Amino acid sequence: MTVLPTILASLFLGFALASIGFNVMHDANHGSYSSRKWVNKTLGLTLNALGGNSFIWKQKHNIIHHTYTNIEGIDDDIAKSPFIRMCGSQRWLPAHRLQHLYTPLLYAFSSIIWVLFQDYEKYFRRKIVNTPLAKMSAADHTIFWISKVLYLVFYIVVPIVLMGWQSWLVYFFSMHIGQGLTLSIIFQLAHVVEETEFDSVSVEAKLIENEWAIHQVKTTANFSRNNRIISWLVGGLNYQIEHHLFPRISHIHYPALSRLVQKECAAFNVPYNNMPTFRSAVVSHFRFIRLLGKKPA
Ligand SMILES: [Zn+2]
Repeated sequence: MTVLPTILASLFLGFALASIGFNVMHDANHGSYSSRKWVNKTLGLTLNALGGNSFIWKQKHNIIHHTYTNIEGIDDDIAKSPFIRMCGSQRWLPAHRLQHLYTPLLYAFSSIIWVLFQDYEKYFRRKIVNTPLAKMSAADHTIFWISKVLYLVFYIVVPIVLMGWQSWLVYFFSMHIGQGLTLSIIFQLAHVVEETEFDSVSVEAKLIENEWAIHQVKTTANFSRNNRIISWLVGGLNYQIEHHLFPRISHIHYPALSRLVQKECAAFNVPYNNMPTFRSAVVSHFRFIRLLGKKPA
């Protein structure tokens, strides 16, 4: 097999793994994939099969990100400092002037860093940014270690034995580039764009200024709502406003819900951030990243 088609296949594999994350793992870990708890619990473990950890994700995402969306010092999704400055209250460094250029490179390596470093950092530090990690049961510890070992065996040891370490290295990195770019871009388009708001609260008090639903709507954005292929590939994450308001409802209902939510937002004079296309959302994200890279006045 020649190298180029296999690199392309590996990139596509990474994209497909990310799509499993969006469509199956994300819903299951929110408890919205099925009405049966055991189905959600089992399918939530698809994240472990992708290299992550369901227990840590549920806290990082369901509790911290979904409650303290876009709040500096608490929301792990915008905690990329000092490498990427994602909101105005984060410290500026001269290197950020170029962040719109190097951010895609960091995104490309984000899933490999997550799987091989960040999960362990959260596990051993017992914290997600500044929030203490909830107590893990013996079963949670066991699942953490068994799935991490299985990941090393199936994604690293077996391929090295079968194809040699040089080929493995190329294809493993290609797969993660596909996975990391897809995951980062889709999740960042939902919150880190010119239209959304950011907040910083006292980390101890954790009091958010706005009422919960208004905070969720103001810090979140939808994109390409009318594109059925994108909606399918990203598991409804392009309807992020509806997802943040109704995380326990399956994403297949978001298109219908979005019409009602948009109407209510207009009635209560709350901005409904909606970017018409995927391209406009990507442009807005990188324009915002570039703006934050400029030295604050
Ligand atoms: Zn979510």
